[in-house]
Amino acid sequence: MMHTSLDHLIQLFSKLPGLGKRSAERLVLHLIKKKELALYPLIEALQETAHNIHPCSFCGCLDVRDPCFICSDKNRDPSILCVVQDMSDLLAFERTGSFHGLYHVLGGVLSALEGVGPQDLNIQKLLSKVQKQKFDEIVLATNATLEGQTTFHYLRDLLIPSGIKVTRLAFGVPLGGELHYLDEGTLSTALKARQVQ
Ligand SMILES: [Zn+2]
Repeated sequence: MMHTSLDHLIQLFSKLPGLGKRSAERLVLHLIKKKELALYPLIEALQETAHNIHPCSFCGCLDVRDPCFICSDKNRDPSILCVVQDMSDLLAFERTGSFHGLYHVLGGVLSALEGVGPQDLNIQKLLSKVQKQKFDEIVLATNATLEGQTTFHYLRDLLIPSGIKVTRLAFGVPLGGELHYLDEGTLSTALKARQVQ
C-alpha cells in the first residue's frame, strides 16, 4: 500500500516540467524525510495556490489578488503595455527590473499544429482594453519561435490600425529562443532596443 502511494507520488512529480523519474524520486524521498521543513510547507503552499491563485481579470497575471500585484501598483506606468505569452515571460521581465509598465498575458501562442486559434488566447480582452485605455505603446514580446512570430504578426495586424505605437523586442538571441530562458541582461537589452513596427 505504502509502496503504491509512493510510486503514485513519484509518478506525479516525474510528469512536471524539467523533472525525470530519478529526480522525482529524489524529491519525494526528500519530502518524506523532511516532513516539517519541506513537506508540510509544500502542502500548505499548494493548497493556497489551488484555492486562491487566479488569473487577474485585467491582465491575466496569476495572483491571489484581483487586480493583481502589477495592475494594483500605482507606481507603474499605465501608458505602456507589454504583451507576453505566459506568466513565465512576465516573471522574466519582472526579474530584469527594467520594465515598469503593465502587462497582458495571452495564455499561449497561435499554433496550427496544436490547434490553438485566436479564440483560445486572451486576445479579445486585449483588443477591448486597447480601445478603452490610452496606451502610448504596446510591446509585443512573444518568443522568437515560429509560433511566437506567427502570433506577433497576427497581433501586429490587429493593433496597427488603432494608431498606437507597436514595438517588438530587438532580438540578440537565436531564432527559436524563449524569453524566460534569457538571462536578465539579454532580455533587458532586447527590451531597451525594441523596434517600432
Ligand atoms: Zn493584472
